[in-house]
Amino acid sequence: MRQEGYIKYRSYLTDGAIPELDGFEELNRCRTELFDLRLIGIYPDGIGFGNVSMRVDTERFIITGSATGAVRELARDHYALVESIDLKNNSVHAVGKINASAETMSHGAVYRTLPGVNAVIHIHSRLLFDYMRREGYPATDAAIPFGTPELALAIGYLVTSIPGDDGVFVTAGHDEGVIAYGATVASALAGIRQVYTKGTM
Ligand SMILES: [Zn+2]
Repeated sequence: MRQEGYIKYRSYLTDGAIPELDGFEELNRCRTELFDLRLIGIYPDGIGFGNVSMRVDTERFIITGSATGAVRELARDHYALVESIDLKNNSVHAVGKINASAETMSHGAVYRTLPGVNAVIHIHSRLLFDYMRREGYPATDAAIPFGTPELALAIGYLVTSIPGDDGVFVTAGHDEGVIAYGATVASALAGIRQVYTKGTM
């Protein structure tokens, strides 16, 4: 059974507007580009995959909402503002009109571990996933499934082994899953474009 799209954490959502943020338009354009490349979207069974996020401050970030994979161009209300993540209690507090992505904890782990990172992208691709596995890209343990505090901890550990604030890795226990992050939206997107060019050659 595919596990994508299924929220495994306890979600505490407070109704509210997403603040206007510098860089939002760029993040949203990046998400549309990934949708057009079919790296974010929806499987034939109706389950969405892929998500993007951007840091707001030390703790908080905005992330695409759950079940938005069918929509090509998102509006602000398709995003949730994540206020805090509690790994120990497996819970996420967010503000918005929509639940944060099922993979919020994975994004949060990167922000928490690397203060210089301001954007995280998670895409799905059979081609890129297999290519990166073959080429020995950094990867989380294949025994760790998606959307869990265990994966968040593993991601935090993994990204400290990758030098700098830009990186790309595979979530080996989450089939087709690839995560890129960077100091800017542009650098995170560049990471995806780079493996896309190599992996689809
Ligand atoms: Zn995923």
